[in-house]
Amino acid sequence: MSTLTACHECDLLTHLPPLPAHGAAYCPRCGSLLVRSKANSIERSLALVLASLILFCIAISFPFLAMKTGGLEQQTTLITGVWLLYTQGMKGLATVVLLTCILFPLFQMAGLLYVLLPLYFKCRAPFAMRAFRVIQHLQPWSMMEVFMLGILVSLVKLAELAVVTPGISLWAFALLIFTTAAQTALLDTHQVWEALEVPDGST
Ligand SMILES: [Zn+2]
Repeated sequence: MSTLTACHECDLLTHLPPLPAHGAAYCPRCGSLLVRSKANSIERSLALVLASLILFCIAISFPFLAMKTGGLEQQTTLITGVWLLYTQGMKGLATVVLLTCILFPLFQMAGLLYVLLPLYFKCRAPFAMRAFRVIQHLQPWSMMEVFMLGILVSLVKLAELAVVTPGISLWAFALLIFTTAAQTALLDTHQVWEALEVPDGST
């Protein structure tokens, strides 16, 4: 089955045949790369999504930071951190952190699991195409690495005022950034769309 693909450079519509593993297709008019297939993309992405979900559970369940100053020790988790921002009057910031660091990444990981797991077993989840489209729209709004950068900057500044101990959640969060980045790089969206577009009964 061939699919119709538009060239990003010159807008030429081309019928693409199914590509072999590591194969690439180029535009016949301008020579730009149209798609490059990635071997075992669905299996590898699925494994990384599962790893990311486990790391995410650790990241939101365990203490993120422990601060010790003047004999007083305070532990905070990701959720209590957001709640503290909210109660201290920074409602906008609390909402942004909640959405971009907790809810959007969680929706994205759960959505990918919902779409990829049935594809791994050669079937298709209901509304999978719609879910995959939403996941792709959500991707730019997942900003865990920006949050991590902010945490690192504040850690350096706070180190002068108090003894700051990173918790297990901070390490899980740092690993999570790598697993999600690897998953995004490995996911062959063209292959997923192709698998989702196969008519019912022919898989
Ligand atoms: Zn072209």
